[in-house]
Amino acid sequence: MKIAIIGAGFTGLTAAYRLAQEGNDITIFEKDQKPGGLALGYKEKGWEWSLEYFYHHWFTNDDSVLGLAKELKYPVLTKRPKTSSLIDNRIYQLDSPSTLLSFSKLSLLERIQMGLVLAFLRYNPFWNLFENITAASFLNKTIGRKAYLILWQPLLVSKFGEYADKIALTWFWSRIKKRTTYLAYPQGGFLHFAQHLADAVLNKGGKIYFQAELNQVKSDGVPSISYTINNQSKIENFDKVIITLPSFAFIKIAPQLPENYKKSLTNLKGIGAVVLVLRFKKKFFADDTYWLNICDTQAPVLAVVEHTNFIDKKHYNNEHLVYLGNYLPNNHRFFTMSEKQIMSEFDNFLTKINPDYKKDLIAIRKFSTPFAQPIFFKNYGKMIPTFTTPLQNIYLANMQQVYPWDRGTNYAVELGEKIARLVTDSH
Ligand SMILES: Cc1cc2nc3c(=O)[nH]c(=O)nc-3n(C[C@H](O)[C@H](O)[C@H](O)COP(=O)(O)OP(=O)(O)OC[C@H]3O[C@@H](n4cnc5c(N)ncnc54)[C@H](O)[C@@H]3O)c2cc1C
Repeated sequence: MKIAIIGAGFTGLTAAYRLAQEGNDITIFEKDQKPGGLALGYKEKGWEWSLEYFYHHWFTNDDSVLGLAKELKYPVLTKRPKTSSLIDNRIYQLDSPSTLLSFSKLSLLERIQMGLVLAFLRYNPFWNLFENITAASFLNKTIGRKAYLILWQPLLVSKFGEYADKIALTWFWSRIKKRTTYLAYPQGGFLHFAQHLADAVLNKGGKIYFQAELNQVKSDGVPSISYTINNQSKIENFDKVIITLPSFAFIKIAPQLPENYKKSLTNLKGIGAVVLVLRFKKKFFADDTYWLNICDTQAPVLAVVEHTNFIDKKHYNNEHLVYLGNYLPNNHRFFTMSEKQIMSEFDNFLTKINPDYKKDLIAIRKFSTPFAQPIFFKNYGKMIPTFTTPLQNIYLANMQQVYPWDRGTNYAVELGEKIARLVTDSH
């Protein structure tokens, strides 16, 4: 079969690899210059490894992506970095049952109560029980009032903003279930791993066009795509087309889609992200924290992630690299503000954590995406778009179909494998 795959993120690359293995004639169209999608990375002068635009790691139980790395003989590092929370201007390590048990902001009884609720979620496989309950109402009632107010409510509010009270417990369950204390990372960075996977597609006879942007997709039984490459517009027919773009982008490029289908996709909501990457001459966190959750809804930042407290700074010319992350609706002012303007809003907050941080700051870069995370409302399971679309032989495979798990490259690999099987079986 002659198959077009739109997007060279991990969903598109994996689908392409599996379909090419089956002997299909595969072409990937990617608007960027490089593969990786949301896990894309870049290198500054002197860096040996690339760094992701947005903080990325794997959990050690991310079996699909780790299995693929193993199959492709790609080296993966495993480490146990420190995860902490900032509460009332103090950093508490909170990343294991023992650190939870010694968390002094709660009484022993409160700690035990919180531990029992988290254990109940972690060891409960019946996630569909949680589809009809919001995380906010469940946690408020069960985890202890104080624990909810100081840890979990700030997490929901800072991450989901106006949707905080509407997030299904399923989302929270998946976060608790999947979390591992050890984390994994592809040697060289996610970009390097994506390039390795792209090479595997090419080795199986597939083609990849970079800086090739899809403008329109149509089907009268035989799908056709129009795209721009090297400033030239082209039209080409395929037997099957797999779209891996977010649903809002699919709607824009497929004028034949019926209104009711478009409406079902627009009812699905998502949230964007704006992240700053700070390069330092010295460590930012004195205590080696890798990931700091900010449990303060008034703070201008959701998480501070010192990447080089996880991955050795020697790969980045001995620089210390720190992400300042925020999930935001895509009309938020940070999307249009410069690094400098945003930093002026973060300055007070950062100074409280590290009063000398400005002395060692080398440079700042800003990255943003309008769609970083789907919103799981109650009963999201009933809203998930199907892989097949109203357009014959055109398929959709994107983050909004990853459920009940929280999206990630592991699930992009799983999704790519699923859609490849479906397309093969439909022939
Ligand atoms: C802030 C943040 C933190 C994250 N943290 C982690 C983490 O720690 N671990 C983890 O595993 N995952 C993490 N993720 C999620 C992970 O990056 C995604 O789940 C995954 O990369 C999605 O892959 P995808 O292929 O489905 O989609 P995408 O990566 O979005 O790929 C879609 C591709 O389509 C291309 N495209 C778009 N429009 C067009 C067009 N018109 N024509 C041609 N090409 C087009 C895009 O350039 C892109 O390459 C994070 C994401 C964000 C935003």
